[in-house]
Amino acid sequence: MAARRMKGLFVARLFGIPITLDYSWFLIFGLIAWSLAGGYFKNLLPWLKESTHWFLGIGAALLLFVSILLHELAHSLVAKAAGLKIRGITLHIFGGIAELEGDAKTPKEEIKIAAAGPFMSLLLSLLFLILGLLASQPELKAVYGYLFFINFILALFNLIPGFPLDGGRIFRGIIWLKTQNFYKATRWAVKAGTFFAYLLMVYGFFLMLKGALFGGIWFLFIGFFLRHAADSSYRYLILTRGLKGMKVKDMMITDYVSVPSHLTIQDFVNNYVLKHRHNSFPVIEDGKWAGIVSLNNVKQTPRESWEEKHVKDIMTPAEEDLKICEECDLSDAFVKTAENGLGRVAVLNTQDQLVGYLSFRDLETLVAVKGLPEAQ
Ligand SMILES: [Zn+2]
Repeated sequence: MAARRMKGLFVARLFGIPITLDYSWFLIFGLIAWSLAGGYFKNLLPWLKESTHWFLGIGAALLLFVSILLHELAHSLVAKAAGLKIRGITLHIFGGIAELEGDAKTPKEEIKIAAAGPFMSLLLSLLFLILGLLASQPELKAVYGYLFFINFILALFNLIPGFPLDGGRIFRGIIWLKTQNFYKATRWAVKAGTFFAYLLMVYGFFLMLKGALFGGIWFLFIGFFLRHAADSSYRYLILTRGLKGMKVKDMMITDYVSVPSHLTIQDFVNNYVLKHRHNSFPVIEDGKWAGIVSLNNVKQTPRESWEEKHVKDIMTPAEEDLKICEECDLSDAFVKTAENGLGRVAVLNTQDQLVGYLSFRDLETLVAVKGLPEAQ
């Protein structure tokens, strides 16, 4: 899935990979624990106390999320072995996502990385089946039975051959392998993804007509989510690939306007913002690039302090995701401008001097003018 960073609660670092819970995760965790306690466990073990149903419900829900985490870890570790960087794993309302930096370089890698997750879910399903058969206590049998079933469903659902689901990535890998054409493969896999997304929505609608309101809405949501994900990851991919091979220095703006860091905000507004009408400016301190100051930074500063505060007090200070080297690939610049929240990067030469400025919008325009690779 497109590597947009999600916000949430950092939990731990496993194999060097940060694990985060998106805030929507708590909602789904509560819902699952509740439906397991009041439905599944209550029906299966009616002689137990309600508190025991809840205990089992929460325990099974936790094990479900451990299973999802292991599914994402499987993707991540295979990707890591293939030399890709992993930004992190986030668990959210629809399950989980492993954020990889960049794409697999070969179709075989793509297939291996995509297949690792469902393979892990199938293994877990098998493990819980065996545990369930060996267990003698009915409580344990019920917990293992649920996990056997849900991991099996997870594997099957993820194997649906529509991008960006794992099955869609495997599908893309196979077409990529056969045609040696990455774009064609992606286009087909995205089409399949859109088809299955609509199918899920229709199914959800059908469920709602039959009176299963909650289940219906759930399938509608998943359909919408998948359609959107297919769409945006495709756009993202086409853009980054479309810029591959081009250098930052070919595209950067060299007649940018930089701002000295010691300027007061009042002077900055009068002499730069109102005069040049740009949304952001690179900031210079002692002849070196020090950060980026934007209109948003100004807006967040109370007007009374414009005379006392200086540009360096409100700017976003120089960080890795705000800068790029002039010899770097344009597609890397695209990823940075798309994700750093400012839509801009400062371009530096090998002596770390500011030599240019580049915006997300310029890159989008460039791809539009060049023609999308899919049109070729
Ligand atoms: Zn997966």
